[in-house]
Amino acid sequence: MAEFNLTLNEDQLQLKDWVHEFAKDVMRPNAEEWDDREEFPWPIVQEAAKIGLYGIDFMMNAMGDPSGLTLPVAIEELFWGDAGLGMAIMGSGLAAAGISGNGTPEQVIEWVPQCYGTADDVKLGAFCVSEPDAGSDVSSLRTRAVYDEANDEWVLNGTKAWITNGGIADVHVVVAAVDPALKGRGQASFIVPPGTKGLSQGQKYKKHGIKASHTAEVVLDDVRVPGRCLLGGKEKLDAKLARAREAGRTGEAQPAMKTFEATRPSVGAQALGIARGAYEIALDYAKERVAFGKPIIMNQAIAFKLANMATQIDAARLLIWRAAWLGRNGGFKNGEGSMSKYYASETAVRVTEEAIQILGGYGYTREYHVERMHRDAKIHTIFEGTSEIQQLVIARAISGLRIE
Ligand SMILES: Cc1cc2nc3c(=O)[nH]c(=O)nc-3n(C[C@H](O)[C@H](O)[C@H](O)COP(=O)(O)OP(=O)(O)OC[C@H]3O[C@@H](n4cnc5c(N)ncnc54)[C@H](O)[C@@H]3O)c2cc1C
Repeated sequence: MAEFNLTLNEDQLQLKDWVHEFAKDVMRPNAEEWDDREEFPWPIVQEAAKIGLYGIDFMMNAMGDPSGLTLPVAIEELFWGDAGLGMAIMGSGLAAAGISGNGTPEQVIEWVPQCYGTADDVKLGAFCVSEPDAGSDVSSLRTRAVYDEANDEWVLNGTKAWITNGGIADVHVVVAAVDPALKGRGQASFIVPPGTKGLSQGQKYKKHGIKASHTAEVVLDDVRVPGRCLLGGKEKLDAKLARAREAGRTGEAQPAMKTFEATRPSVGAQALGIARGAYEIALDYAKERVAFGKPIIMNQAIAFKLANMATQIDAARLLIWRAAWLGRNGGFKNGEGSMSKYYASETAVRVTEEAIQILGGYGYTREYHVERMHRDAKIHTIFEGTSEIQQLVIARAISGLRIE
């Protein structure tokens, strides 16, 4: 077990500086343009791939860190640069986490690299859980997976909603109901390999923020995938279904929840990066902007706002680092992953709003980034478990009760 340490090691400090350079030199200057264009920023992701920031090696290195802190440290810097571009770079990570969390070692080796491709031939992954009628309530998925024994194939049918990289990804990881009566326990995850017939992109959503990240419906129309595309394998699934039927349990332990549990500190780190970015802009501005003959920071009303922002940002980082460390060293006990995601995302919304207030009229325009940061922050209280769902997870963990 690695010791929990607030001092980053030499490798982590170097990585932090390296990601920060990219965020400062490549992401920040291009953020407004891609926000306006609302298109997937291929040139930026390709540039990230060229320097090794987007790719399997980077993810393996970060995931292999026993302290767990490398990934949140890198993500904080990326999202400090820009959240829309950051999400375009990080989006494949959710698919990779879904495969790593549920697949066999052979499946991980085969499919995770295909979620990234190579520096010269960038690929994307998508993790498809949510549906038009099932977002928070992931146990009610309607997408069905039926086994065709004669051909050893799974047949997938359904519609997935709000999928990051949906339809433009090379590898889609799809969570579907094998036995809907068992709710979450009757679900499994499937790889839909590149070019599989029957998978198509539905509507592409126009969004409030993180506009450079591609979000779309994914339609599955008689999609046939080989038996080996069932993550974890058939034997394991059959045993799980048999246990669930015997126990008559229909709880929510299901593949998507396992993935989301593991990725919560990373999502918290995304929100943290946005919050810090906005706070730094507001601090600089408050020292320079003169009103009534003195810099506006000389008023407690402004200085105290900044003091609160700094405090909440540091508190968020501490929760994230603790959760990331626990994720690698013994697991969450009292909903620490949810605490980190919940607190950081609410902080990001508050801090970015205060940043706009501190910048006054300028803050409301696009000139100073904080307006975009505020729009980008909001998604963090919604995706990968809304704030209310995080509170539910924490409440259940601390009480041991099935609070509804
Ligand atoms: C930009 C974007 C990217 C996304 N990317 C992905 C992706 O890559 N893959 C994927 O699978 N999904 C993705 N999602 C979907 C996202 O995870 C869901 O939108 C989210 O989980 C919320 O689900 P919902 O929208 O159905 O809201 P609902 O579940 O309908 O919730 C609506 C409101 O009711 C509240 N609520 C619901 N149930 C309870 C309860 N029991 N107690 C208290 N309050 C409750 C919620 O907190 C929320 O405020 C993405 C969404 C967006 C917007």
